[in-house]
Amino acid sequence: MSRIGIMGGTFNPIHQGHIILAQESYRQFRLDKVLVIPNKLPAYKDTDELLDSKQRSEMVQLAIKPYPYMEFRGIELERNGPTYTIDTLRELKQTSPQDTFFFILGGDSLVSLHKWRSYEAILQLAVILCAIREDAGRKELEAARDRLIARVPEAEIQFLHTDLLDISSTRIREEFYTNPDLVAWIPSEVRAFIQEHHLYTIREGEVHGDGAH
Ligand code: NAP
Repeated sequence: MSRIGIMGGTFNPIHQGHIILAQESYRQFRLDKVLVIPNKLPAYKDTDELLDSKQRSEMVQLAIKPYPYMEFRGIELERNGPTYTIDTLRELKQTSPQDTFFFILGGDSLVSLHKWRSYEAILQLAVILCAIREDAGRKELEAARDRLIARVPEAEIQFLHTDLLDISSTRIREEFYTNPDLVAWIPSEVRAFIQEHHLYTIREGEVHGDGAH
């Protein structure tokens, strides 16, 4: 029986915040590996700026290469229609019923988890590992955790203590070509990929990628 972390994301693009979250989950919860799973078409997000899932996946694979315990899984890319976490968890559990799954997420995701499709089943299939800062937002996250456990008493929601980086994919998309301070937050191979393929240069009002179809 293995302890398997699941780091799901839109990864548009992947950055050091995602990597640190996966690293710390692995370390603090003694996971055997972390599956890194890019989604195809997030049902819940504005997809105007969503890059093609193939390009997002390539960046994920470049970013996780230095970490032998991180494993790329393209299972959400093979599904049609919007991507739902419950489908992924059911698939993984069916393939490896003996393993324990840990779904890794940030605080914003925990606060909105009750809106996800079949969130009660998600909480039954996986332990939730949620990133938390010692200082900020702790009370709100504890309240969100308590609300979820009140609805699903068997749920297990653990907090992950980490110095979260002040970086987001949105900021990278907006400032990649203008803000040199961002460089440290983007793995160098991902940076090179963005430059080589001239990504995130689209002007306001234009659309491309998965979400445009
Ligand atoms: P994302 O924007 O790429 O982020 C991936 C995860 O990394 C999120 O949990 C996010 O936390 C966290 N994160 C981002 N920046 C961080 C930083 N600087 N430091 C630490 N953590 C950071 O992906 P997403 O669009 O939120 O999706 C996350 C997963 O949830 C995906 O697998 C998606 O399919 C799933 N999801 C499923 C449903 C559904 O089934 N209905 C709905 C929503 C999401 P924050 O949440 O705090 O940004």
